[in-house]
Amino acid sequence: MKISEILKSKEITVSCEIFPPKIGTELEQSRKIVADIAALKPDFISVTYGAAGSTARFTAELAEEVENCGVAALAHITCVSTDEESLDSYLSSLKTNGIENILALRGDMPIGYEPKRVYPHASDLASAIREKGGFCIGGACYPEGHPEAASVSADIDALKIKAESGCEFFTTQMFFDNDIMYSFMTKFQRKGINIPVIAGIMPITNARQLARSASLSGTTVPRRLREIVERFGDKPEAIRQAGIAFATEQIIDLIANGVNNIHIYAMNKPDVAKEILDNISEIRKI
Ligand code: FAD
Repeated sequence: MKISEILKSKEITVSCEIFPPKIGTELEQSRKIVADIAALKPDFISVTYGAAGSTARFTAELAEEVENCGVAALAHITCVSTDEESLDSYLSSLKTNGIENILALRGDMPIGYEPKRVYPHASDLASAIREKGGFCIGGACYPEGHPEAASVSADIDALKIKAESGCEFFTTQMFFDNDIMYSFMTKFQRKGINIPVIAGIMPITNARQLARSASLSGTTVPRRLREIVERFGDKPEAIRQAGIAFATEQIIDLIANGVNNIHIYAMNKPDVAKEILDNISEIRKI
């Protein structure tokens, strides 16, 4: 099913993200992760794409597995490793496997990798996919502004181009301070962009993960989360519990404030996704 239809038909949606393995021998384990997350009945599952394209086959295979488990799949793709030929072949493999949703991303240049440069921005890729037809296309957005953008406002201007190029929804970069998201949504709506925004929530379940995620994405870490990690970071079960509680609270606050579409960066941890979904089981039904 197309994600645009899911978003129209349900008031509250909760989806999850997984990443593919780097080598084929780990594919079986990834299939098990897909099955475990699909059993939680998320509204869709997205499968990321290695920026350099080396795991494209696994992205497509796992997305197919998601569909086989009865859940809508969203397959990612990046500009940096895509040209016309590889786009054609990726889209036809998705179509053959019944995948109707694609997240068009630019990707970041892997060190030492020569990018294809056929599609400079995600909007160029979205246009090319729209021309082929048959897909619901999504894109990424950044409540704090993309790190390369001059300002949040300039970044939202680029989002407008992305929406006009065929994106039917955006999923946000992770954020840990909901007020940043609310302020972004106000600016986004003021620019007259009328497509759904799905809030990306990253449950922090260990101290290393927070340091890595925040440094890669530039996301602000609020004092409350910093203190949780400082206090419990060296106690694996305690930080896991606190991180799940923090993500749950974030989600409840978002839904209470009308941000009804939530995407959990599940990081291939079905147990973490399950606890969060259990915590909001009644809220999902309203
Ligand atoms: P773009 O939309 O191209 O934006 C990049 C920069 O260019 C921004 O500063 C923007 O303001 C500017 N810009 C955009 N369009 C224009 C335009 N037409 N004219 C002028 N300026 C413009 N990376 C992966 O490698 N694999 C993944 O699977 C993956 N999944 C992701 C999922 C989500 C939800 C998010 C938020 C990010 C994901 N990323 C992934 C990371 C992403 O590729 C990087 O954040 C990358 O730096 C930007 O990608 P983008 O699609 O937002 O790029």
